[in-house]
Amino acid sequence: PAELDDLVARYEVRRNEAPKPAQERAALLAAPKFGTVFTDHMARVTWRAADGWTDRRVEPYGPLQLDPATAVLHYAQEIFEGMKAYKHADGSVWGFRPEQNAQRYARSAHRLALPALPEEDFLASLVALVRTDLDWVPDGEDSSLYLRPFMFASEAFLGVRAANVVEHLVIASPVGPYFASGVKPVSIYLSDTYHRAGAPGGTGDAKFGGNYAASLLPQQEAQAKGFDQVCFLDSATSTYLEELGGMNVFLVMEDGSLHTPQLGSILEGITRRSVLQLAADRGHEVVERRIPAAELVDGLASGQVKEFFACGTAAVVTPIGRFASSDFDVTVGDGGSGELTMALRTELTDIQYGRAEDRHGWMRRL
Ligand code: PMP
Repeated sequence: PAELDDLVARYEVRRNEAPKPAQERAALLAAPKFGTVFTDHMARVTWRAADGWTDRRVEPYGPLQLDPATAVLHYAQEIFEGMKAYKHADGSVWGFRPEQNAQRYARSAHRLALPALPEEDFLASLVALVRTDLDWVPDGEDSSLYLRPFMFASEAFLGVRAANVVEHLVIASPVGPYFASGVKPVSIYLSDTYHRAGAPGGTGDAKFGGNYAASLLPQQEAQAKGFDQVCFLDSATSTYLEELGGMNVFLVMEDGSLHTPQLGSILEGITRRSVLQLAADRGHEVVERRIPAAELVDGLASGQVKEFFACGTAAVVTPIGRFASSDFDVTVGDGGSGELTMALRTELTDIQYGRAEDRHGWMRRL
């Protein structure tokens, strides 16, 4: 669209004088190391209370110089997003519902008293970076370019108040298949000690760095017990399922309906929203409600809950094979990958990689 192209054109591109040599890049893309290898550039926009968003640019990827009094280092005023750019067979590069990420970013910004970056401006920052670093989008099976927009309080000031200077950046990291040797069911530990961030009125529905900081200790403890991920309960009553540290969850019932925790104190996943749509398209009843953990444990034991899966950008749709806590330990189905879970996974990835018709208009050319 013309408006987006106009915004992209406003980005001043300061080229990296020492980009990774093509051969080195090709080697990195053949075996992407998510989160440790980054592209040659980053997109950046600065906000000042007096001027609004200014100085749109794409600059060489590199360290930021921060004053020790930079507000984010003290009071954690920071939000982020996570999304992927997919290369299709004809070489074109596409985002999956990026406007949803833009809207969630604006909601997160509001909760953290950060300035909203307008939707088109958010999209323009992605496009400006992806077009500059187009050669960095991998084309291997289940590979993509992970995009990480983030915004933080960059004002050097030690008072506790919303910052008057803020940075929005986008960095990108090539990513290969989440499961190198095929999809494997994961094991989940239900935390009965810690909550995440979702206290009523808290920050659970924002993509706020502090939520993730609070999830690290429970995650470490669960891993020490041999589990892959933690599932958190609601903070008010410790009764209802919320979500994993970085994924939403779904139950597939014996009658074919899909149930997922209602919104409120959880992150509204874009994968969650898409799974709700795809399941409804297939004729399944979809229900967003409060789900007591005890109901899930009983349902898994009785067979009333047939499948249990997690979903999010990183691992798409991932079967859960085992669900346990200090006082129960149950196998999901036969411990393998549920049929509907895998069908939804395939359907979603086929849309993302351009192998299936994009009937909902979810893909957006970057
Ligand atoms: N919940 C949390 C806490 C997350 O961090 C994520 C990942 N963004 C999700 C759910 C899934 O969201 P999405 O499908 O948009 O990746």
